[in-house]
Amino acid sequence: MQIRFWGVRGTIPTPGPDTIEIGGNTSCVEVRTSDKQRIIIDAGSGIRLLGKMLQNETPGRIVSTILVSHTHWDHIQGFPFFLPVFGRTNRIVLVGQKRVGRRLEEILAGQFIEPYLPYSYKSLPADLIVKEVQDGETLILGDQTKVQVAEMNHPGGCLGFRIENENTVFAYCSDVGHGDNLDENVLRLAQGADLLVHDSHFGSMEERDKYSDWGHSTWYEAAQVAIEAGVKNLGLFHYGPDLVDDEVKRILEKTRQVFPRTLLTKEGLEISLPLDKDLPD
Ligand SMILES: [Zn+2]
Ligand SMILES: [Zn+2]
Repeated sequence: MQIRFWGVRGTIPTPGPDTIEIGGNTSCVEVRTSDKQRIIIDAGSGIRLLGKMLQNETPGRIVSTILVSHTHWDHIQGFPFFLPVFGRTNRIVLVGQKRVGRRLEEILAGQFIEPYLPYSYKSLPADLIVKEVQDGETLILGDQTKVQVAEMNHPGGCLGFRIENENTVFAYCSDVGHGDNLDENVLRLAQGADLLVHDSHFGSMEERDKYSDWGHSTWYEAAQVAIEAGVKNLGLFHYGPDLVDDEVKRILEKTRQVFPRTLLTKEGLEISLPLDKDLPD
């Protein structure tokens, strides 16, 4: 399984000299499987450049699945600028959940309303299929790829994903806060994963305690989940907008003291699973 990170930031894009190494685009991760499934997790601002790459690589017909963890803006704001939605021959399946009593398609279409955008969701030429899933459901994609979804603790709800392909497992658990105990669904999704990508929004426990109702985690909780779930590698992700490169690098050092097989997700980073060699810096 090939994993590529197009956006690793939380809340709002943060371009600038202090974030240039980690990157400022919001959540978007690309997964390619051995049975040629092209899965995109979340449609934050990072999805724009991914769309351009897909368009150049497969100009004829793009078929992909976008797993939408939840519809907070930093996870869908790039969708109107995802080039494949403008191609008549392309097919995009959007997978997610109803939120606040509104259908997923209605929420996505709600971004395409004047005066916020000059074109409507209905006018998009691509074949867009919206599939709503339930907590605990498993989707079968292709011949050898399975996606398990589970609801995690986050304001308004958020799905975590476990993607299994040919004996390798990638778990994506962003936008989750653990409270006093680790979220059971996160532990289940992450169990034995080759790589767990976990929310690491806050720079310190003090910050987390101050904003405990935001439903996010620190590096320390990410490491606790990694240990408890027996994952092979941990990727920190969804860095808060105020976390500049130097702080994120200090966080990596601290996390490695608790869970040595930790890496920083960064824009442009590509990982091939299983990952048993040295970790990227
Ligand atoms: Zn978020
Ligand atoms: Zn969120």
